[in-house]
Amino acid sequence: MKIVLAKHIGFCGGVNRAMETALKTAKNSSSEQVYMLGHIVHNKDVVEKISKAGVIVTDNIKKIKTGILIIRSHGATPEIFEKAKTQKLKVVDATCPIVAKAQNIAKRLKDEGYQVIVLGDRNHDEVKGIVGATKNTAIVVSKPKEVQSLKNLNKVGLIVQTTQNIKNFINTASALLPISSELRIYNTLCKIVDLRQKEADLLAKKVDLVLVIGSFKSANTKQLTTISKNTGVKTHQIERASQLKKHWFNAIKKVGVVTGTSTPEWVIKDVVSELTKIGKGLE
Ligand code: SF4
Repeated sequence: MKIVLAKHIGFCGGVNRAMETALKTAKNSSSEQVYMLGHIVHNKDVVEKISKAGVIVTDNIKKIKTGILIIRSHGATPEIFEKAKTQKLKVVDATCPIVAKAQNIAKRLKDEGYQVIVLGDRNHDEVKGIVGATKNTAIVVSKPKEVQSLKNLNKVGLIVQTTQNIKNFINTASALLPISSELRIYNTLCKIVDLRQKEADLLAKKVDLVLVIGSFKSANTKQLTTISKNTGVKTHQIERASQLKKHWFNAIKKVGVVTGTSTPEWVIKDVVSELTKIGKGLE
């Protein structure tokens, strides 16, 4: 059984940067406790690594009395930065520059009198940060259909969650066009995510089965699974090697492997090593 790895796998630059920032801050701050609001990525091993380094993850900034607060790659709302200031916490901002750019565009559009519309998942922290940048005036939609309830818009600025699907973005822009007097569209999609989606689509057309490695809570990993399934190829998503099932690979000659942007390299290595064993067992 041949195993074909996608070219771009493992952590993206933004997650890598946040991870290194967290570990470095914890190492250099022996006299101060380091905190993070929410997990850096949805991965058990990464969460353990961060915790072993001494970073405490909390869901509420009010629980932090003193110390250092690391902002994750998803970014945070301006309210979080204000609260951190009021509580005299030191802030280490590891917001991914691509997310920060989307926040800045949203803020500028709001300041220039545009109604900002964000295409994305309203419960995702990245989207909450972008909406926060507009003083909570932005409207969040998750699909073109949701635009239909909006009527007679004047100046509209459309931006998109960095991990969304390009087709959904194009269709949402098309739906907004007839109901807006003026429409500004900013492509704030992450090129890395887009590249991985294109790779997944191409790879899926060349193999007998696609294995997607990454968290079921990760938006960009779920997109890869959908893209692969849409090509008609057998597709399985797993979070770790122990979830592999030998019978998936009966009569499979070529397996393609793609990963989300928050999948650690060591998890990929484990999966590939297990896949190799399964392949040898089938020979
Ligand atoms: S997926 Fe893109 S936008 Fe998101 S953290 Fe990674 S590099 Fe940044």
